[in-house]
Amino acid sequence: MTKKKGKLFIISAPSGSGKTTLCANLVESVDSLYRSISMTTRAPRPGEQDGMDYIFIEKPEFIKRQKRNEFLEWAKVFNEYYGTPKKHIMHMLKRGSDVLLSIDVQGAMKIKRLKLDAVYIFILPPSIEMLKERLINRSTDSKKAIQQRLAVSKKEISCSDKYDYIVVNNRLESALDSLRAVVVAERCRVKRNH
Ligand code: 5GP
Repeated sequence: MTKKKGKLFIISAPSGSGKTTLCANLVESVDSLYRSISMTTRAPRPGEQDGMDYIFIEKPEFIKRQKRNEFLEWAKVFNEYYGTPKKHIMHMLKRGSDVLLSIDVQGAMKIKRLKLDAVYIFILPPSIEMLKERLINRSTDSKKAIQQRLAVSKKEISCSDKYDYIVVNNRLESALDSLRAVVVAERCRVKRNH
């Protein structure tokens, strides 16, 4: 029997929907699922660690890497660049490990065009009001940035029908259960040609 290749699990969610916490808990509680660490040009938020949350790089460095085709996908989000480093992910997939990408809708749609073995999951906040509340409570963004993030969120939510699964994050534990169930089911999936 040939060795099974890994799958990509792509998770998108509006900013402030609790995606970071969910993804961290998911990789911790599921075997052989590795979270890809993106590169970004945005400044670290308080508490974020270089190499853990993101790899923080300057814009010229990002552009250089992008020109060298080092990203599986990349996107400009809120005026900053974000990209998924390709080499390590392809190595993990080849050796049979599953990889979790936490990326925006633009990036997810770019991956779709690559026709890789990938599962697309969209996390919805319980409501737009709740999202606004979470962004305000996070207090890392200015009022203007919050408005900007909310406008983008609404646009992103309208793309959720392009995903394979939608998980509503009203309670961390139940959203996590749903995510784990998706991973387990997808690992058991039989490929069909019809
Ligand atoms: P934040 O600045 O709040 O951490 O992330 C802003 C948005 O960028 C989020 O939707 C996040 O998922 C997305 N993002 C993070 N890393 C990447 C990446 O490598 N590629 C793309 N396309 N989006 C990313």
